Amino acid sequence: MNNMLHLEGVSKVYNAEKHNEVNVLRGVDLSVAKGEVVGLIAPSGAGKSTLLHIAGMLDAASAGTVQIGGQDVGGLSERKRTMMRRQGIGFIYQFHHLLPEFTALENVVLPQLANGISARDAEARGLSLLDKVGVKNRANHRPAALSGGEQQRVAFCRALANKPLLLLADEPTGNLDPETSDRVFLALMEMVRGEGLSALIATHNMELAAKMDRVVRLDQGRIVAAN
Ligand code: ADP
Repeated sequence: MNNMLHLEGVSKVYNAEKHNEVNVLRGVDLSVAKGEVVGLIAPSGAGKSTLLHIAGMLDAASAGTVQIGGQDVGGLSERKRTMMRRQGIGFIYQFHHLLPEFTALENVVLPQLANGISARDAEARGLSLLDKVGVKNRANHRPAALSGGEQQRVAFCRALANKPLLLLADEPTGNLDPETSDRVFLALMEMVRGEGLSALIATHNMELAAKMDRVVRLDQGRIVAAN
């Protein structure tokens, strides 16, 4: 089994009980192979966030199967689901969501401590990740003291801190100005490649999407090839 993420027949209906159903996903089939980086293009409202949340076990599908690392996540106990979310999946949002009262380094260290890593190892990995995306010199600054691009770079490090199997990103540079966005996106791609990660990255930017291994499009609730 070479797929890190495998979605089959995934559908999502909102408001099913209220007679004003919204059929957002209508049988999504999508696989991301080990080490593969897949771009996801979708117009606003097409269900991109819904799809990423289902793939990241933050929301449940109405029907269909979700496998991560070859495991059907629907069949996992609540404890195993929590472990998979914490250790198996890295999530990056459009907004950084860093903890404001902690430094950049602490934001990358804390999820590792929660995962049972020693403070010493967590700090070493944190500094190494911050270094890879060029913000090691801001390690002891709080998020408010960082630029938007720097905040997002720290958020990338936090998402990768626990060496996830799969990275899910929802327009990771969508909040940045175009020039910063390009640079920060390239830093993300370099880190993803360096760690050999499997990733599903949603973006509106076709130029950035072209840097990925494959691009798919969400169209009428289904996945279609985009290139
Ligand atoms: P995208 O990320 O592509 O912009 P979303 O996944 O956020 O799209 O939303 C897709 C559609 O589902 C939208 O029409 C949205 O209004 C609807 N939707 C999202 N969440 C809910 C919800 N909790 N209840 C009802 N409709 C929802």
